[in-house]
Amino acid sequence: MQQNIRPETAMNYAKNDLTGTIAALATPPGTGAIGIIRLSGDDALLIVQQVFGGKNLMQQASHTVHFGTIIGDDGQIVDEVLVAVFKAPRSYTGENVAEVSCHGSPYILRQVLELFIKKGARLAQPGEFTLRAFLHGKMDLSQAEAVADLIAATTKSSHDVALRQMRGGFSHEIKKLREELIHFASLIELELDFAEEDVEFADRSELKKLVTNIQSLIHGLIRSFRLGNVIKNGVPTVIAGRPNAGKSTLLNALLNEERAIVSEIAGTTRDTIEEVLNINGVEFRLIDTAGIREAQDQIEVIGVEKTMEKVRQAALLVYVFDVVETKIDEVLADVESLQKEGTHLIVACNKMDNLPSYKPEWLLNPNDPGIPDFFFANERPPHPSPLTPHPSSLSHPYLITLSAKNGMNIPYLKEKLYSAVISEQVNLESPIVTNVRHLEALQKAAESLDDVLRGLDEGVTSDFVAMDIRRALAFLGEILGEVSTEDLLGNIFGKFCIGK
Ligand code: GDP
Repeated sequence: MQQNIRPETAMNYAKNDLTGTIAALATPPGTGAIGIIRLSGDDALLIVQQVFGGKNLMQQASHTVHFGTIIGDDGQIVDEVLVAVFKAPRSYTGENVAEVSCHGSPYILRQVLELFIKKGARLAQPGEFTLRAFLHGKMDLSQAEAVADLIAATTKSSHDVALRQMRGGFSHEIKKLREELIHFASLIELELDFAEEDVEFADRSELKKLVTNIQSLIHGLIRSFRLGNVIKNGVPTVIAGRPNAGKSTLLNALLNEERAIVSEIAGTTRDTIEEVLNINGVEFRLIDTAGIREAQDQIEVIGVEKTMEKVRQAALLVYVFDVVETKIDEVLADVESLQKEGTHLIVACNKMDNLPSYKPEWLLNPNDPGIPDFFFANERPPHPSPLTPHPSSLSHPYLITLSAKNGMNIPYLKEKLYSAVISEQVNLESPIVTNVRHLEALQKAAESLDDVLRGLDEGVTSDFVAMDIRRALAFLGEILGEVSTEDLLGNIFGKFCIGK
């Protein structure tokens, strides 16, 4: 549905004449049972009336629906329609709105839309309905952005989060705290007018309390982004391992479908394959990669480079190895080369059906003299295993046993994938930030508020404190759209579809 918008269109947003009446197809293009054309603006009802055979729409109450015909310039009926009437300000955009439900034929919809344009409407820009809703105070900017997210949501959790944000989400809280902060900013600025008299209108300890409160809210929101991002965009998950380790088999087992080509010949998964696995409403974007191994030919060189690139981007990495073929020292060397900060690593000991006596714990203590030499290709690793959890770190790689071919432990692996990204304490009811723009504004607001606190502690003059508060206010205002620029609006609404 997303349409490619030329950059100059996006830039032109705020320069648009927002007083005109706009029209656009509000349903997906193509054939359907019905197709809806939406109009918004002062003349929305008047324009429809000019081609409408039926009641006088202007005289109808808001939020009512009327049957009639659309009549072409030649006097012929184009379609039988239902017109929903919404009168300003009680509409999505805050303006007069008409929604004309036609039969869903692309021919009819084009004809009807052309008639409206002839009668004085102009074609809406992408996102212009929602932009108008924002400009008329029907929603703040973060709510408007949530409309796009809501439409794009493909899972229950991403839908829930977008819906909550559209209905106000954390903007209420930010708005309230921002207003309290504005109150303090004005008191401090008032002090500046009385500089010679050395008075203090703004109670410094109250201000400090408020700023600390706002900080803790902001930090909570910043922390929620990791989860928000997971919910909205899914988790890039890479399955990596040596050729023939069972990566494709594992991918198929997870997806329960024969998607990737499974083959006995080493190195056959030449390119990367991406599939989506939904676990409890979270989308894992599974990437099966060409094997990690010295590439034998040119095509494989590309495959292996791609593997490393995918590994770098992954939030979750499942390293698979064949318990018979790949020896402990080789596994540990692979793990060392793959481990990366910020990536959760799951080590899957595969083909356990071929060697049920294999002990995954050996990977943690490779120097244990009890491990038979057979399990080492060369020598026992001289240093501690990279899989041993570091005393200072809480997270350590998950170690699990599998038989990808028989489906053994696949449900358990799914549980591990889920718990690697969603920790127990996460509450999906609490406000969650899903938008990078909000995250950046929150981070900058937090920095400015740090400056305010530092200033108060060091007893700097009021004008500096006032300046830092103003800066924090501006960043918080950016989230709500109380401080917005043409570029920002163009950027946000330009990503919408036409008709939204
Ligand atoms: P890839 O190169 O890592 O993608 O490996 P494949 O998934 O193509 O698997 C290579 C071979 O190992 C195939 O013949 C699979 O049937 C076999 N294989 C994969 N998983 C298992 C397993 O758990 N047990 C056994 N016995 N064979 C497996």
